[in-house]
Amino acid sequence: MSLVVGVDIGGTKIAAGLVDHSGTLLATATRPTPATEGPDAILATATALIHTLTESRGVVIAAGSAEVGRDLRDGTGESAGVGGLGGRGVVTAVGVGSAGVVDPGRGVVVSATGALAGWAGTDLRGELSRRLGVPVVVGNDVHAHALGEQWRGAAAGREDVLLVAVGTGVGASAMLGGRVRHGAHAVAGHAGHVPVAAAAGRPCPCGGQGHVEAVASGPALFGEYRRRGGTDAADLAGVARLAAAGDPLAADVLAEGGAALGSLIGGLMNVIDPEIVVIGGGVAGCGEPWWRPLRAAIAAEVLPALRDVPVEPAALAGAAALLGAARMALEASP
Ligand SMILES: [Zn+2]
Repeated sequence: MSLVVGVDIGGTKIAAGLVDHSGTLLATATRPTPATEGPDAILATATALIHTLTESRGVVIAAGSAEVGRDLRDGTGESAGVGGLGGRGVVTAVGVGSAGVVDPGRGVVVSATGALAGWAGTDLRGELSRRLGVPVVVGNDVHAHALGEQWRGAAAGREDVLLVAVGTGVGASAMLGGRVRHGAHAVAGHAGHVPVAAAAGRPCPCGGQGHVEAVASGPALFGEYRRRGGTDAADLAGVARLAAAGDPLAADVLAEGGAALGSLIGGLMNVIDPEIVVIGGGVAGCGEPWWRPLRAAIAAEVLPALRDVPVEPAALAGAAALLGAARMALEASP
């Protein structure tokens, strides 16, 4: 059986998943990202993780293995020169979604947040394909997330999809006609860096100011809770628990962040005209104190024809980016 591996490289962890052609996630593995140790350490960790994953399932990574796959389907796998395979599978390609601006055409990380030291400029495709010996396809992690949700998740069967991921940062992916739009400089989707009124004057991690990420990301929400004197929660999940229990400060902070993001999403919907909006990332787990004001702000912003567009939580959580990265590899395979 011909398989692919999808990889998700984030600021805190690297995840890898073994995926078949129908979009079934057969196995996963994760390791912490050596985020401060430079690109070589990140690439070495990703490579080791992929080997751990494949070895755990008795799967081999083999270049040019499309022909090996055919032999296996013919029942001649044991004599195909891939010893000990037992018909269990061959990884023919690897897809990688990474944080940052990633140019899928050149295979290079164009720019990255400070969370991944030295990551900008990394020849992600070249380095990984050299280390693994199979074709590698790379892209931005939020685009991978969207590809996964549109393949097997909340947006399955939809052609025009807006996915918004809100966690450490705020990102988006617009799929039009079933295809992710990367833009002319691979920057498309960086929706966190759109100005909204609620963020006026606030510094943004990108170096600009007044962008929605400065008030709507997970760190921004928790920072705001602390800035207003909140001491009862140790993290954003704690703020969400307090808000659900009726704590007015926690509820206000989540409501303002949700409303700011909702304004942005409503505006993006007017530009993109999606069939469905899917919202994922850790902040989307903050419950109704965040979702209610988000939905109200979207409703206040969209043009009348878009009032009934469904706005749904992502269905696949962390599996979405793995499936999407795997799909990138499958679609690039001959
Ligand atoms: Zn910004």
